Amino acid sequence: MPEKKLLLHICCAPCATGVINKLKSDGGFDITGLYYNPNIHPSAENEARKNSVITLSKDENIRVLHDDLIMLDYWKENLEGDKDRRCRFCYSIRIDHVAKTAKEMGFDAFTTSLLISPWQDHEKIREIAEAVQKKYGVLFLYQDFRPFYREGKNEAWKRGYYLQKYCGCVFSYSESDHKKKPVYNF
Ligand code: SF4
Repeated sequence: MPEKKLLLHICCAPCATGVINKLKSDGGFDITGLYYNPNIHPSAENEARKNSVITLSKDENIRVLHDDLIMLDYWKENLEGDKDRRCRFCYSIRIDHVAKTAKEMGFDAFTTSLLISPWQDHEKIREIAEAVQKKYGVLFLYQDFRPFYREGKNEAWKRGYYLQKYCGCVFSYSESDHKKKPVYNF
């Protein structure tokens, strides 16, 4: 059987490591990554995450597309104080973009590395991806990758990838009490 051309939305290198390992062990996929995360602030943090994704693409020998967009004003003006609405918007813009790109570029299917993280709202991500697969007529490859999260993160740590200390947006930065959180002034 020919391999399925799969466009994988990559939220970060640690999450993508586990997802790519799982998909490679399943077999049957020709994987291309898409790094598109306008939720990440500030740009220094985005650069750190993106650079690890570039290293990951070499380590895994997969092509990764990059799409940079900064939306700080939108976040500050429209989404402060409402986590549920904020995260829904955040997942939607990223998943919609990957599905649209998959359709335009002739991929057979799309998925997202967000589905591996126990820190994300898995069901919300799944629901949004199922809706956009209908909107664009391109298959959403659903898997619950969460059992592979720890293994992928350990592998990412061994490879020296950047391990972020907050989810990505300015609000999650404020909410994170990680001891090693970088110091940023927004
Ligand atoms: S907490 Fe994470 S998922 Fe929610 S809006 Fe912020 S960056 Fe996006």
